[in-house]
Amino acid sequence: MHEMILCKLGEVVLKGLNRRSFEMKLMGNIRRRTGRFGKFRVYSKQSTIYVEPAEETCDLAGAYAACKQVFGIIAVARALPCTKEKEAILETAKAYLGDALTAARSFKVESKRADKSFPMTSIQLSQWVGGHLHEAFPHLAVDVHHPELTVYVEVREEAAYVHAPAEPAGGLPIGMGGRAVSLLSGGIDSPVASYMIAKRGVELEMIHFASPPYTSEQAREKVLQLARDLVPWCGRLNVTIIPFAEIQEEIRRNCPEDHFTLIMRRFMMRLADALAKDLNCRALVTGESLGQVASQTMDALAVSGDVTDLPILRPVIGMDKEEIVRIARHIGTFETSILPYEDCCTVFTPRHPKTRPHVEEVREMEQALDVEGLVRRAMDGREVVKLR
Ligand code: ATP
Ligand code: MG
Repeated sequence: MHEMILCKLGEVVLKGLNRRSFEMKLMGNIRRRTGRFGKFRVYSKQSTIYVEPAEETCDLAGAYAACKQVFGIIAVARALPCTKEKEAILETAKAYLGDALTAARSFKVESKRADKSFPMTSIQLSQWVGGHLHEAFPHLAVDVHHPELTVYVEVREEAAYVHAPAEPAGGLPIGMGGRAVSLLSGGIDSPVASYMIAKRGVELEMIHFASPPYTSEQAREKVLQLARDLVPWCGRLNVTIIPFAEIQEEIRRNCPEDHFTLIMRRFMMRLADALAKDLNCRALVTGESLGQVASQTMDALAVSGDVTDLPILRPVIGMDKEEIVRIARHIGTFETSILPYEDCCTVFTPRHPKTRPHVEEVREMEQALDVEGLVRRAMDGREVVKLR
């Protein structure tokens, strides 16, 4: 029998009426993400999704790594099936987990019995397999509370399974939480914010504001690379790139310098709002963190949020930079984010940005601009890059 991957579904969500659609979404996502590693049979039984190689050439390690990045799974493990006899289970554990058993100092066996016709209870099976493993690997201490290695045995309808160590995953299946537009800059924060919202089951559409000739081709490529880094988590992504230079030039020409960043951010929100409405998205996502810069004070957030009626999701709002960096490293965007190319925000930065702006004043200042025309022209100039 072949080694396969078992994905355990989150229990809490399963209680709802959505169970079936949850499972279907998740299986679709798993199928799509493992597809590049060969042909797999993906099916579900008893709160577990099985990912089983359907041909010799499958890259199981690759598919396993991909499954760890699919949201909506509570734990994922590689497993080897065997016949439903205690001797076969023991031999499978010895052979399959031999290296891990040799390396560990303590262990326990944890069994589950979905097939109640199996002649031993799960406790009896754990004790029997544990006892014999202990004889075969006498250096191992039995530790039922904090073992270094847990040997999982599952007796299911069709076969018994011995698991390699299970790894926790999390989140909700992408697509269950609706769709949102995420504002993706080249920084550290917005990729993390995108990841966090995707993790809650939201399908993302990315928007990026680029200001050539003030921003370079490398800066644009960097943002696309960030989006590519996010694909293993988010699934396919479209990045809409909006030309932003005309807007910035117009603001600089017509508005007070200390309000430059704020008015620029209002345009970002207007454009993201327009894209959201075009693409049937129900919220905006940003990487704003309270107090990090002048445009992220409470008053400034109120002023930039004033131009859209969509909820603005800011998942890193209460996080310190170090916490955000930790996640950025975990998800694999950090190294790209710290590449030194300039963003449109750094092109025209005011010397003394306003930190306590008033929304009426800002609206007044925008009277000097053809807001509608600027938004329309920027939207007309958009370009969509599809990443798979
Ligand atoms: P980040 O690290 O995400 O760039 P930041 O700390 O540099 O954030 P700002 O530059 O003020 O903060 O941007 C705040 C948020 O606005 C970003 O997290 C992002 O969601 C959005 N944003 C900023 N610049 C752009 C851009 N050029 N294109 C798209 N979104 C942007
Ligand atoms: Mg930035």
